[in-house]
Amino acid sequence: MKLHEYEAKNIFKEYGIPIPEGFIISKEEISKIDDIGINKPVVVKAQVLVGGRGKAGGILFADNKEELKEKINELFSKEIKGEEVEKVLIEEKLPIKKEYYLGIVIDRTEKRPAIMFSTEGGVDIEEVAKRNPEKIVKYHIEPRKEFLPYSARWILKHAGIPSKEIPIVADVMYKLYKVFKEMDAVLAEINPLVITEDGKVYAADAVLNVDDDAYYRHDYSKFEEFGKKEKLEFAYVELDGDIGVIGNGAGLTLASMDIIKEFGGNPACFLDIGGGASAEIVKKALKKVLENPKVRGVFINILGGITRCDEVAKGIVEILKEHPNVKFAVRMMGTNEEEGRKILEENGIPYETSMEEAARKLMENLA
Ligand code: GDP
Ligand code: MN
Repeated sequence: MKLHEYEAKNIFKEYGIPIPEGFIISKEEISKIDDIGINKPVVVKAQVLVGGRGKAGGILFADNKEELKEKINELFSKEIKGEEVEKVLIEEKLPIKKEYYLGIVIDRTEKRPAIMFSTEGGVDIEEVAKRNPEKIVKYHIEPRKEFLPYSARWILKHAGIPSKEIPIVADVMYKLYKVFKEMDAVLAEINPLVITEDGKVYAADAVLNVDDDAYYRHDYSKFEEFGKKEKLEFAYVELDGDIGVIGNGAGLTLASMDIIKEFGGNPACFLDIGGGASAEIVKKALKKVLENPKVRGVFINILGGITRCDEVAKGIVEILKEHPNVKFAVRMMGTNEEEGRKILEENGIPYETSMEEAARKLMENLA
């Protein structure tokens, strides 16, 4: 689950990480906007869970009360990368001298947390990783041991920050790891970690994603996104490609992704409807796949066992009618195959019994 910036900052503050002074205002409180006075320049920040808010127009500045009202209204009236703005964070505008990057993630390959630090902060860190990977210092933490301040200082020395900044930045790094560990986070990030003109350090932005599997150890229910995440009745993982892949059973779905790749395609998702899916679940699964605007084609691979081909066919037929522009390929065999085929045939939907054939035809259709 992702926490909002203001929620993450509240936690950072509890751990002693310096954050800019500020307050939050929600859409319902808009009537109070006239009472808000400020006596110094502020940053007005849309509380949406998307990366690159600044570039997308979600970070605005105001120097006086009038401007502040304007900017708050502006943010409430627009969407940032498709997300509506429900809350806005108003903070003192920091006199920024330098922007650093500090992040802690679970590195699954190394099976341990990794701290990353870069003097090239503020910007998209993926870009830095691509263009100047040497500008990112990565340090793996042995989770059973303590992460001590001297290790933080070591990382910063290697990152090449001025020595007088090392103690204050190391302190933030040490505290951020404490947050990461105690909150069961999967990602904790401060970008930018700011050094001001007067030499102070601040977390100007905050990202904190907590591990859904650690719910039982915490009271996550106080956070905004709690319970908001849609509960799917199937396994769905979104990927970068443009071919939706649906199968029954994880193995078959993975094999389906492989075969799509084999014929030059790129999967847009992994979707396993599981065993014994009803027409209703098939419909929901197809809808989910087609929500992704990148999807140009869908590959459906069903090997009927407990799953009945006729149920699957019923679901497919209903959704296909609504999406005449998307290309489909259906491979279906097994339980109630005849009944299933009949339903597809009656609706003019081609199907295959060989998955190679289905994948080849789909890719030819899309070429
Ligand atoms: P993001 O785009 O969602 O990552 O939003 P950030 O909170 O990181 O803000 C984006 C950028 O806005 C930062 O990298 C800064 O350059 C700028 N910014 C944010 N807060 C301040 C501030 O207090 N003072 C100044 N001068 N710039 C700020
Ligand atoms: Mn940021």
